[in-house]
Amino acid sequence: MRVRKLQDGCSWVLGKLPEGCKLCAKGAKLVLFITGKCLLPKECSWLCPVSNEKKGVDVIYANERRVISIEEVLEEASLMDAEGTGITGGEPLLVLDRTINFIKCLKENFGEKHHVHVYTSGKNLTKEELNKLVDAGLDELRIHIPTLEVLRLALEYPVRVGVEIPVIPGSEENLVKLAFQLDELGVDFLNLNELEFSESNAEELRRRGIFPRDDGIAAEGSEEAATRLLEAVKGSLSLNIHYCSARFKDSVQLRNRFLRRAQRVARPYEIISDDGLLVKGVIHGVPVSELDKLAEFLKKKFKIKQEMIWVNYEKERIETSIEIAYKIAKKLRERNFEIGILEEYPTHPPRLEVEYTPL
Ligand code: SF4
Repeated sequence: MRVRKLQDGCSWVLGKLPEGCKLCAKGAKLVLFITGKCLLPKECSWLCPVSNEKKGVDVIYANERRVISIEEVLEEASLMDAEGTGITGGEPLLVLDRTINFIKCLKENFGEKHHVHVYTSGKNLTKEELNKLVDAGLDELRIHIPTLEVLRLALEYPVRVGVEIPVIPGSEENLVKLAFQLDELGVDFLNLNELEFSESNAEELRRRGIFPRDDGIAAEGSEEAATRLLEAVKGSLSLNIHYCSARFKDSVQLRNRFLRRAQRVARPYEIISDDGLLVKGVIHGVPVSELDKLAEFLKKKFKIKQEMIWVNYEKERIETSIEIAYKIAKKLRERNFEIGILEEYPTHPPRLEVEYTPL
């Protein structure tokens, strides 16, 4: 089987990329965090990177957006033109009815082709749960505590079954054994994630002698262990294996997802940067009661078209294009207003601002 390097130059795939990962790489996968509730299995709770505000809490997020209803999930999926959804947590099986309902709604609204995969620890997975998930339309099941028993059970069902685990530095010998076992069982893929450092797992990782790389986002030695596994198994297995680096998630996947969402939500005066950020001119420091009046004045004075200027009441500012911002900057500074160029994520408001450059 062929080994292919992915766009970031560090991630690789041996054989075929799982369908859910293809969509994720294109930025076409909605990440649906369905609950933070979890059984906290001893095998993974120590390295789990789920943030402290979500861990153990029954909250739902569609990408970065906190949601409470399926309608909001569907809206978020539409706004990024999602072709698939990855349901994660926490443990999605702890809220099985919710998981089933969401899978059904996604399939009903976006069609059977909308690809859905569910991550589960696999702990206590039953036939009844699998029947319900398959009936709802599940396409792919990703198990992260792979026991022979649970894998054999899942493989009886008409879904793709994969194992997805973080790579612990120095664990290559165990990974090689696991890869051969999975190959023998007929599991569809093994997904290896670079072990990530987060505020919630950093202390425990350090306590176990695992330290962050220079960029602070992933563990030193995790990528090397994945590479050694590849060297040990290539040419001897028919199992598809995919290694996904933390950089890939950050640069390729996130950037592509932002680009898709930005194309759908950008206002006429906003431009989309190569990284999928929205860039525009903003006027601050105007009393809320004066915002409308100033916007009207600017429209008339500088002949600005209606769609090229907007009052953002939530952020208490006026927004316009970069070009117009440069044109009107002098006049506004004379009146002691602040004007500058702002870059922000194209996510659900209130959007996170990345960079502000005063004019
Ligand atoms: S990795 Fe998954 S199952 Fe393990 S503690 Fe974190 S959320 Fe729970």
